[in-house]
Amino acid sequence: MSPRVLVVTGGLVSAEDTDLLEALRKQIAALRGSQAVWLDLQIKLHAAERLLAADRHRRSETFRRASYREAVERFDGHAPIGEIPELTEVALATLLEHEGLEVECTTYSKLHADASLRERLLARTDAVFASTTLLHDRAEMDPMLAMLKRPHNKVVAGGALASMLHATWEGSSAIDLLAVGYGEMLVPAIARWLRTGELVAPERGRIEERGGTPILFSGVPEGRVLDALPAPDWRIAERVHGRRFRMAHYESVRGCPYRCAFCNYPYLFDDTKFRYRSAERIDADWAALEAQGIEYVSCLDSLFTMPRKRLQELCRRLIARGSRLKWICYARADDLCDLPTAQLMKDAGCVQVQIGVESGSDVILKNMNKACTADENRRALINCRKVGLTSLVTVIVGFPGETRETVDETYALLASAPPDVFYVVAFSTWVEGVPILKDESKKKHGLVTLGGVPSPAPYWRHPGMSCTEVSHEVKRLNEKLIEHRVGLEGFLFYRGLLGYDPADREALLDFQRDVMRGQPILRGIVRGLDAFVHRQLVRDVEARLGAARAMSA
Ligand code: SF4
Repeated sequence: MSPRVLVVTGGLVSAEDTDLLEALRKQIAALRGSQAVWLDLQIKLHAAERLLAADRHRRSETFRRASYREAVERFDGHAPIGEIPELTEVALATLLEHEGLEVECTTYSKLHADASLRERLLARTDAVFASTTLLHDRAEMDPMLAMLKRPHNKVVAGGALASMLHATWEGSSAIDLLAVGYGEMLVPAIARWLRTGELVAPERGRIEERGGTPILFSGVPEGRVLDALPAPDWRIAERVHGRRFRMAHYESVRGCPYRCAFCNYPYLFDDTKFRYRSAERIDADWAALEAQGIEYVSCLDSLFTMPRKRLQELCRRLIARGSRLKWICYARADDLCDLPTAQLMKDAGCVQVQIGVESGSDVILKNMNKACTADENRRALINCRKVGLTSLVTVIVGFPGETRETVDETYALLASAPPDVFYVVAFSTWVEGVPILKDESKKKHGLVTLGGVPSPAPYWRHPGMSCTEVSHEVKRLNEKLIEHRVGLEGFLFYRGLLGYDPADREALLDFQRDVMRGQPILRGIVRGLDAFVHRQLVRDVEARLGAARAMSA
């Protein structure tokens, strides 16, 4: 009989967690395995303040009487796309079925919340494929995988976190095999292992052992073009879930040709080359999705606008065959600077682009090795507005070189070319091995970091800013962008963004400003909590990194 496999995906906390207490319990369990937690707590406290304030404002009398009420309710009430399985789940289910194995799929959240479901599923499956892609660190991963391990089953851990951890792996009694690299090349070898007990590396791969755990590496595909790799089959996902999906995730590249100093994407999959599917192959895959009834494609690629020739060819193909698919993607500002390219994307069905603007300061962009200027960021945003592409931007606060003045430059950039939606995030040193954390980069920028402890947001400081200041700088920038009605704060409007109507922008900006100005009681409580957390953070940073410095401006 063929082995039965349970595919488990998701993060520690997800949109499926409707029980707040349950979500909190998981967070606390993860924190128990962590140290140096105060920066993470402060970041989460500030994010929770905005979300709670928005929730309370929606229930207030002021909201009921506000002129923006209709627009907000329209935004909230857009026909939801519904929960979509992770691409990893669909890809694994496709590959496992091709190997003739029986597959069931679930998430960490569902298993954690429902003990009888957990026992039922684990009792009838011989192996668990556990995706670590949305798990943050070992403090999150270990309790989740321990929940899956049974004497009779084999637990295989793969995905982004496994790719990051394998080099320093010290073992785990909950994991029978760590799988690193391309799933398409790993799954046939793992299926054979499940059937015969014999672990043989894929043709271009290898097997190592660390901490008592065998680690299976896929090796890398031959050549740059990925057309030979099978595409995830969303019909299998629909059958497994017993319902239709309106949106499908899609991936057309692996790696990235750029080397931004904070990003590990170019080194995931145990591969350093940028590889991609051809325009012809993407067009064929999308035509199949469209024929299946899919309306939206969400491209998860690091950036979909590279190579630009491929993008242009794909757009022309989509236009020529009259595709009605709407699609969203990550894009580089320097590609969107080209107005005809932005227009072509819009004409081919692109509705939304996510741009890593990162900073409005050329000094910081250079420190980041972003290979893009503040002016290119500005022109890209102007082009998006001209052609009608909804723009989502991310900016990072606190990267080495950052001061209050450079944060203000970021504000000035966004104010001069307002995006539709913005996300402000704090500089993080959590991902080990990225270029900025190499010894020579740290020395060059005077960056001091806390290494070697399991922290969800490890401490850092450099001559311009310290992690004790960064959350307040993130908050200051967020509030300035909201107060001056520059754009919509992404975490407040995350759900339903696909239904965003630019005609409602002004009303939504008014709503958001009222959210920020109101709720004095909540703000008072959060201020008190923040003061406590901040004191602990300063004390802990001083103890672990040495005495704090004053902010430079
Ligand atoms: S931030 Fe984007 S462009 Fe830069 S290396 Fe990462 S994926 Fe590539």
